[in-house]
Amino acid sequence: MTNVPVPEPGLFPVPPKVTRAQKAAAAKTASVLVEALPYIRRFWGKVVVVKYGGNALAAARGDGAGAERAGAEQAAAEPSGKGTGDEDHDGALEALASFAQDVVLMRAVGILPVVVHGGGPQISELMQRLGKETEFRNGLRVTDADTLDIARMVLVGKVNRDIVSAINVHGPLAVGMSGEDANLITATPSHAELGFVGNVSVVDPTMLQRLLAEGLIPVVATIGADESGQAYNINADTVAGALAEALQAEKLIFLTDIEGLRVVADDPTTVIRQASLAVIDEIIRSGGIRGGMMPKVEACVRAVRAGVHRAHILDGRVPHALLLELFTDAGVGTMVMP
Ligand code: ADP
Ligand code: MG
Repeated sequence: MTNVPVPEPGLFPVPPKVTRAQKAAAAKTASVLVEALPYIRRFWGKVVVVKYGGNALAAARGDGAGAERAGAEQAAAEPSGKGTGDEDHDGALEALASFAQDVVLMRAVGILPVVVHGGGPQISELMQRLGKETEFRNGLRVTDADTLDIARMVLVGKVNRDIVSAINVHGPLAVGMSGEDANLITATPSHAELGFVGNVSVVDPTMLQRLLAEGLIPVVATIGADESGQAYNINADTVAGALAEALQAEKLIFLTDIEGLRVVADDPTTVIRQASLAVIDEIIRSGGIRGGMMPKVEACVRAVRAGVHRAHILDGRVPHALLLELFTDAGVGTMVMP
């Protein structure tokens, strides 16, 4: 028998006093984890494409400014108007940090997230700072060569970098890419009079699959190129839908700046929690969907038709909206299913 030195009693660490409130909080945490378990098991190893709206960033204050301007504009077009001002900056950073945390947590429990981002308000802001006029036709931004340069610089060089950095605070996880990289997105011009605004013609998901297989999180800026290498700015909602389809994702999730899809655009009491494709068709026909919501709904419909299990339109202003949707029984926003 060896002589094990016995420490003096005073040297034993005294367990900290646990208050009743702390015990209750811990029990709550445990029950939250238990609630999440079936979802974690269901989504393990599945691809989830998340589109982070330029406006979800800019509208981080949660003042509902978005609701006021349901009208004219569309996607590759998204003009500013939702706070890109100074006082929004902190809120936007906070929202981005919280989004990054959610994405990292998804990855940590075995989900394979792919992030797609817009940046309309950020493009408009730089255009303004450079004193460049924005011309809109039918609510779509006319994109001449200068505008395309600006859009590409902002999306690939700024917004993409910001999201990648926010994720990589948690570890070497995110890899930023443009749709031009490894021919991810081949584009064709969408309307002759809009200049370099593109449609998705082909998606080659090989590079995404390679990154996912390595446990990395791709973050995609939605610039595509045609066969000659000419770049085009493409609506981020459309790209998110096309990537979800190409990857046969489990889910396609839009984080935006409104509480969900409304049957009537201007009436907040008409938010719909679940909708089949047939119901969505009805809503589209009734004219209830306008502006930036249209490409989201179209992308949801297309993706779900093409085999994506569920599509969601969530309120990106709600902290941890992604976690609430993925891992709780409640769910938030609107769910589109076959
Ligand atoms: P994002 O940056 O997320 O793409 P958008 O402004 O392009 O944001 O799209 C979201 C906006 O769509 C909402 O803020 C709202 O004003 C508008 N909208 C139009 N029709 C509807 C509808 N039926 N339900 C909800 N929002 C709608
Ligand atoms: Mg939009």
